[in-house]
Amino acid sequence: MLIGGIEAGGTKMVCAIGDEKGTIIDRTVFSTRGPEETFADMIEYFKQWKIEALGIGCFGPIDLNKESGTYGYIKKTPKKGWQDCNIVGAFKDALGVPVGFDTDVNAAILGEVTWGAAKGCDCAIYITIGTGVGVGVYVNGGLLHGLMHPEAGHIRLVRHPEDSYEGCCAFHGTCMEGLASGPAIERRYKKPAAELGGCDKVWKIEAYYIAQAISNYILTYSPEKIILWGGVMHQEKLFGLVREQVREMLNGYVSHDGIECDIEHYIVKPGLGEDPGIKGAIRLGVLAKDKIRG
Ligand code: ADP
Ligand code: ZN
Repeated sequence: MLIGGIEAGGTKMVCAIGDEKGTIIDRTVFSTRGPEETFADMIEYFKQWKIEALGIGCFGPIDLNKESGTYGYIKKTPKKGWQDCNIVGAFKDALGVPVGFDTDVNAAILGEVTWGAAKGCDCAIYITIGTGVGVGVYVNGGLLHGLMHPEAGHIRLVRHPEDSYEGCCAFHGTCMEGLASGPAIERRYKKPAAELGGCDKVWKIEAYYIAQAISNYILTYSPEKIILWGGVMHQEKLFGLVREQVREMLNGYVSHDGIECDIEHYIVKPGLGEDPGIKGAIRLGVLAKDKIRG
């Protein structure tokens, strides 16, 4: 059975053909231009294969409410030309197959619980810290949607006592994204994050924010596994600093061996390398074919 997957991003569209076991058979990447020309290239690609379903993990905000007249649309994005874009409709009409749809980060955690580092978990989260901060949430065996979809990258955080940066989130200033994203680091220190590797204070403060957010997610979602990735996490030392500070911040309150004795296996990198998003999209396709909630 061939299934198509799309990891839809603001700069690139990763398209792949896979199977129900999560094996990727073929993949290609298109740059994201206007919806019409971008979709035309993608549709031409998928038409070369006999796919039985398609899954899309998409940048947001998106409408996931199946009762809504704009289900499957990208909503109020700042990305020019993409506001109110019916992405699900475009592919359903062109390819005539069932289409599964969710946020990019929900697709990523779905990939990880199906085939990756959170395999078999009932509750797990995927946090990406890059240009923005996104959190995919899988609870009690399904992806969390609710009113819209979680936007846990925008929770408010307490500023580090040695940090006076006002935060770069246009909506909240000092939310998680405003304080800890790649652009936040860059604007605070007036240098690309990748060039600050040797500056210990940068990563101590960064870990303080990531650990604060993770502590809040542990307290609210009770995840069995936390997957942490995104461009900023290329600073490998952050993993150790974050784990240490999470333990300190929880201060023994969440009394579980996974946190107290084995946190190295609790807060981890993706098991699927660079592929959680695209493999999760393929899984969304499989579930759409079987009409199962992700
Ligand atoms: P996106 O979020 O756009 O999908 P990424 O996850 O690659 O893309 O994140 C890009 C961000 O990651 C940039 O803001 C950049 O500053 C930061 N970044 C990339 N490489 C590194 C690195 N080696 N160390 C720290 N930050 C990095
Ligand atoms: Zn925000």
